[in-house]
Amino acid sequence: MTQPLVVIGAGLAGWTTVREFRKLDTQTPVVLVTADSGDFYAKPSLSNAFAQGKRPAQLVNTPAARMAETLGVTLLPQTRVQTLDTAAKTVTTSAGVIAYSQLVLATGAQPIRVPVEGDAADQVLSVNSLEDFSTFHDQLQAVNDHVDGRRPHVLIMGAGLIGCEFANDLASAGYRVSLVDPGSRPLAALLPEAASAQLREALAQLDVAFHFGSTVRAVNAGRSDMGALDISLSNGQLVRADRVLSAIGLRADTVLAKAAGLAVERGIVVNARLQTSAPAVHALGDCTQYHHGATLPFVMPIMSSAKVLAATLAGQPAELTFPLMPVSVKTPALPLVIAPPPPGSTGQWLAPEAGLWQWLDDAGRQRGFVLSGAQTSQRLAQSKQVAL
Ligand code: FAD
Repeated sequence: MTQPLVVIGAGLAGWTTVREFRKLDTQTPVVLVTADSGDFYAKPSLSNAFAQGKRPAQLVNTPAARMAETLGVTLLPQTRVQTLDTAAKTVTTSAGVIAYSQLVLATGAQPIRVPVEGDAADQVLSVNSLEDFSTFHDQLQAVNDHVDGRRPHVLIMGAGLIGCEFANDLASAGYRVSLVDPGSRPLAALLPEAASAQLREALAQLDVAFHFGSTVRAVNAGRSDMGALDISLSNGQLVRADRVLSAIGLRADTVLAKAAGLAVERGIVVNARLQTSAPAVHALGDCTQYHHGATLPFVMPIMSSAKVLAATLAGQPAELTFPLMPVSVKTPALPLVIAPPPPGSTGQWLAPEAGLWQWLDDAGRQRGFVLSGAQTSQRLAQSKQVAL
């Protein structure tokens, strides 16, 4: 009997792999096991949904059952894989043991949690799935029903990509927003200082308040206003807000892989064919450390990887080379496109025109760029100039 291809995880990585595989192989049985509902949605839409007044159910692009039927997949939703046995080629799930011919790990990432003190520390939320978004959405709805004319206030921990996107989205949707970050400016890891300053100004125009050089130390239930939270910052300030959203980053989910003895560093280690250290076991997406040594928790790397992996799984081994993958930041207050320089590259940012920054390495080659505002239309032209 042909054992199935088993895919763990129904995020963008899991579903896109199955879709690409089915273009090449319509016969091999495929089983997709996922801890969530399996509904197909675009995760990036979670951080610009409030301003558009979208409810969680409206963010589902294709319900799980229809995905499974269209792609000829046996879907096991709400089923958690507990262990892998790479010698026996089986996975043990909450619904029983499944044998595989080939296995794909697409288990994504988990929000990083920092210790926070206080009697309401467990009320700090993060959004890395449609389910998380649903919880956040419901809680804000409850706040809206309760605040009685006052603008509800959300404190966001982390002024990185996700934090800035939620700040823009919530502020545009009428919320008061405070952004707390230990650094000195928004998107500090990705932007030159002048571009950060533009973003800060644009968000400030939406009345976003900044607390830089500071972290959240404690979250306590407010004494006077029912449901409000008293948030103590490391700089001694006290901020009262209705909800706290943590957006301080993600860590690859390597739990299963690690327990099964696979090579794991910042993510599950794979080679250019997306093979892990165990035979017939592959990985892609947010759980993965790619062959150049980095994790890439974005959509474009998943699209490239899924095509290559599908070919390998269908017996036509292919190797992954990433094209330049600029990221569009969903901050309509100041649209940004960022093509960061390769990790470890040394050089400097130059600003030849307003809204354009080019990263030149020590040899004078352009290795990255940042575009802001109207200059974002130059995405293609700038991409062509970058030396890969
Ligand atoms: P996930 O979507 O996390 O899927 C992991 C899957 O694995 C889930 O189905 C989970 O249930 C399942 N799973 C995990 N463990 C188990 C287990 N033990 N058993 C069974 N199932 C398991 N990227 C961009 O390029 N542009 C953007 O604008 C952008 N915006 C974003 C906005 C937000 C708010 C967030 C959070 C991310 C954004 N990203 C963006 C990143 C991008 O969305 C992710 O890189 C991508 O969706 C990750 O997909 P994935 O399939 O690897 O992981």
